[in-house]
Amino acid sequence: MACRLCKKDRPLRKSHVFPEWLYKSLYDDNHRFFVLSTDKNKRRGTRPKGIYERLLCHKCEQRFSKWEGYARDVFYDLSLKVVEDNRAFVFSGLQYTPFKLFQMSLIWRASITSRPEVHRIDLGHHTERLRKMLLEDHPGEVYEYGSILMLPALSQELMQQFVYPPESLPTKIDGHSAYRAVFGGLFWLYIVSNHSARLSHKEVFLSKDGNLPVFKTGGPAVEFMQQLASDFFAAGMLNDLK
Ligand SMILES: [Zn+2]
Repeated sequence: MACRLCKKDRPLRKSHVFPEWLYKSLYDDNHRFFVLSTDKNKRRGTRPKGIYERLLCHKCEQRFSKWEGYARDVFYDLSLKVVEDNRAFVFSGLQYTPFKLFQMSLIWRASITSRPEVHRIDLGHHTERLRKMLLEDHPGEVYEYGSILMLPALSQELMQQFVYPPESLPTKIDGHSAYRAVFGGLFWLYIVSNHSARLSHKEVFLSKDGNLPVFKTGGPAVEFMQQLASDFFAAGMLNDLK
């Protein structure tokens, strides 16, 4: 079997589709986490382990680990400088290349996995373009496969119980295709477009000098999260909420 990243014929590692720590807060005492779907018929319930698949060779797995380790540090361990205004928290001092490649790796993996827990998304020729950029350690411009991070105005206790793999947004944003996901308690909005250079607000992405805005948001992101929350409640998966 060929590695999906380098395309070389090497033994493939059974590796997580999304890093375990993005599910961190979803673990219960029995070390299970929840994968949820808005489609009642596709609701998955609990799983004993993360979602694993043989996608990458050892060498490529190591590359991903490096970016993931860095991103994990950003979320959990580094005490980054943060400035808050009424619109966003802006973290500064990030390294652009590993964090951007990490963001890109999530949507790329979502596009190539065949695991049934992950929504089927078809990025067309962008899948191959992403593969090459990841293989070449090329993070590209801020607007190329960048994701906008948002912190919906919901309790973090609630937010951190969600993991939602990327799915296509029903409507385009400013004429661009977009994908939404929930990882690690945040709402991630990816813009996947040939014309993303035309986006008028490029400051919404991680900047090359390492500023990462996390927007405080209401509106559609909150509605989406509330719908997920009610699905979760309906499935009896949110037992620990007070
Ligand atoms: Zn490989």
